[in-house]
Amino acid sequence: MTVDRLKAAIRDVPDFPKPGILFKDITPILGDPDLFREAVNIFVDRHRDRGIGKVAVIDARGFIFGAAIAYQLGVGIVPIRKKGKLPYRTHEESYELEYGAATLAVHVDAFRPGERVLLVDDLLATGGTALASANLIRRAQATVAEIDFLIELEFLQGRHKLRDYSVYSAIKF
Ligand code: AMP
Repeated sequence: MTVDRLKAAIRDVPDFPKPGILFKDITPILGDPDLFREAVNIFVDRHRDRGIGKVAVIDARGFIFGAAIAYQLGVGIVPIRKKGKLPYRTHEESYELEYGAATLAVHVDAFRPGERVLLVDDLLATGGTALASANLIRRAQATVAEIDFLIELEFLQGRHKLRDYSVYSAIKF
């Protein structure tokens, strides 16, 4: 089964980027053309002809899957980036990380009002990154149709933080 093959390909890297974190390395999926296509197609099949207007992609690994999904759905991409990277006027959202805080930004004119947006990232951990991104989409006058992840770390209960949204993950640990 596709999901089992994808799950088996994910590499666990202990203590990266800091002690105590078990990092889920998706580069073995990215490097295999069959696995990469299968991973992208899970999301394409789910959203084809469902009225998605844009795919919003989260800095940085969300860009990889989100761009391929948007290309296949025939819709545009909106990058949600770390503060200071986008050149035009932005909305910004700050959120708490395990240590310290981070700020994400989106261009103020990225969406048409009311446009249905699919938000994509590689992995759901605590949900802070995705919640800040969803808030940015709403502030830019668009609607979050669904938030999709390749991987969900269920024990961190990030889904609870995203309870106001429809959330889908392909692979659960
Ligand atoms: P969070 O805001 O806690 O849900 O963290 C999600 C973001 O951090 C995603 O963009 C992931 O790429 C990254 N991330 C968090 N934890 C991990 C992990 N264990 N392995 C790989 N990436 C992670």
